[in-house]
Amino acid sequence: TDLAHIRNFSIVAHIDHGKSTLADRLIQLTGTVAERDMKAQMLDSMDIERERGITIKANTVRIEYPAKDGQTYILNLIDTPGHVDFAYEVSRSMQAVEGSLLVVDASQGVEAQTLANVYQAIDADHEIVPVLNKIDLPAADVQRVSEQIEDVIGIDASDAVQISAKTGLGIPEVLEAIVARLPAPKGDRDAPLKAMLVDSWYDSYLGVVVMIRVIDGVIRKGDQVKMMQTGAKYGIDKLAVLKPQMVDIKELGPGEIGILTASIKQVRDTKVGDTITHEKKPCAKPLPGFAPSVPVVFCGLFPVDSNDFEDLRDAIEKLALNDASFTYEMETSAALGFGFRCGFLGLLHLEVIRDRIEREYDIDLITTAPSVIYDVFMRDGSKIKLHNPADMPDMSLVDHIEEPRIKATILVPDEYLGDILKLCQDRRGVQLDLTYAGSRAMVVYDLPLNEVVFDFYDRLKSVTKGYASFDYQMIGYAADALVKMSILVNDEPVDALSMMVHRDRAETRGRAMVEKLKELIPRHMFKIPIQAAIGGRVIARETLSAMRKDVTAKCYGGDASRKRKLLDKQKAGKKKMRQFGKVEIPQEAFINALKMD
Ligand code: GDP
Ligand code: MG
Repeated sequence: TDLAHIRNFSIVAHIDHGKSTLADRLIQLTGTVAERDMKAQMLDSMDIERERGITIKANTVRIEYPAKDGQTYILNLIDTPGHVDFAYEVSRSMQAVEGSLLVVDASQGVEAQTLANVYQAIDADHEIVPVLNKIDLPAADVQRVSEQIEDVIGIDASDAVQISAKTGLGIPEVLEAIVARLPAPKGDRDAPLKAMLVDSWYDSYLGVVVMIRVIDGVIRKGDQVKMMQTGAKYGIDKLAVLKPQMVDIKELGPGEIGILTASIKQVRDTKVGDTITHEKKPCAKPLPGFAPSVPVVFCGLFPVDSNDFEDLRDAIEKLALNDASFTYEMETSAALGFGFRCGFLGLLHLEVIRDRIEREYDIDLITTAPSVIYDVFMRDGSKIKLHNPADMPDMSLVDHIEEPRIKATILVPDEYLGDILKLCQDRRGVQLDLTYAGSRAMVVYDLPLNEVVFDFYDRLKSVTKGYASFDYQMIGYAADALVKMSILVNDEPVDALSMMVHRDRAETRGRAMVEKLKELIPRHMFKIPIQAAIGGRVIARETLSAMRKDVTAKCYGGDASRKRKLLDKQKAGKKKMRQFGKVEIPQEAFINALKMD
């Protein structure tokens, strides 16, 4: 295809602003998918994405569009994920295209992820076409939101396309704007092959599928190619474009986007950002590499029923095959038995993986408190990367500890600003910026990631009744006065409940934990001390008193059916308990004890 007749673009938007719906309309209007095959949110393939209405894996579609100028154009849309955890996937797919549609819900305005995503597009030198969506809604305010785009983002919104992705209004104008306002790709057909590895995933029929964007040269089925970073060599088995289902194609030239398969064994063998070239006639220089996506949040996953361990291993291995950013290693816990320590890109990623294990593999899980990676600097000059607070070395051997920090951007209606500032302050935040746009404030905070991983997002949503939006990026490590707090139940440490905390907060945190645990652990026939400690020093203590009588005693002896009901209930409850020494701790205690309110 002639380069002048190709347009490659992505859609950037805050979650729920209508990105998937717009993609559906573009596919539908151009007849890419026959009307009878159309289902809502064509590109959100996984069930869990559909249910939660989020797009997790970047997806792409090739659309043929006969434009008003009489020419037929090939439009390659790369759908990018909209959530903070997947910012890295957004950034890599941005590199593969030349332009972006910036979709903003005209009834809501610019949100935190609008900003984060559009800045990535600007960084990738994209031409940007603003699109105001949902103008069918009575609350839509085109004037106000246009001004906001200009004030907050700093791009011209005077010729924004006004649409309703729901009704289809304005969609032809979007297609014309893509052709007229976005640049055609550049590239040299006669140069040696240079293609970018944009994404890869595991397909149960085809094995590893690799998405590529050709920069120079031509790639054909049967070619022998080489990955320049990994050095691995492959023969191309299949070349296809996504419409969005795979359609085989003989070759892909400059500016084109498609997929290939090449008997690659694991997703891990493909490096996103790698350069693919011909083995015989390679290009001179590889593309500049991408930052790898590294897990930043870790937690333990343990089966509630220890008989499920092998099934859990199987599930985790399968999921990891398809998701190179998810890492795992075996872990043993005195409290929870055998399980896995898993690494995730962020909290949503954690939630998605955990849900998939529970749902698709039908395994009940205990999730330990999410933790970040600490750099522990030892007195002897060595450094430990601490993924699990349970592994914390003795404090007397430690010189200092550094923790990851983030730059958080929060957009919030004025009336909730005070609550947000308090929340950030409570979480050891340092304010970096505070500006206003209309009736909304934008606050930027430097925060320790460890104060955010657990329930920051939930708190943020609850104090602002859902009106705040939030996005973050990692900014580096800094030292602080951190200590490991252990929890002892019946005088024995419960490793799954230990956590790293700031020294000034340890006491408050410890007290809250033991009080919660006292509520969460059922009474036993004996007294149970519950303590929080730093090293050997107890900082908080509660005692769970002994059960006086048999539980069935309160049924006044007579009512047999009631008695049986109670015993059955106890039995059912038992399944969800973990024996710990002489004490039984219910599964929910592990997660609920850590919630701060
Ligand atoms: P995404 O998260 O950006 O992919 O957003 P979706 O495309 O999933 O849309 C989020 C919600 O907004 C869905 O319930 C859509 O039906 C709805 N929606 C999308 N576009 C419009 C529109 O133009 N008008 C109205 N009223 N609702 C829309
Ligand atoms: Mg979507």
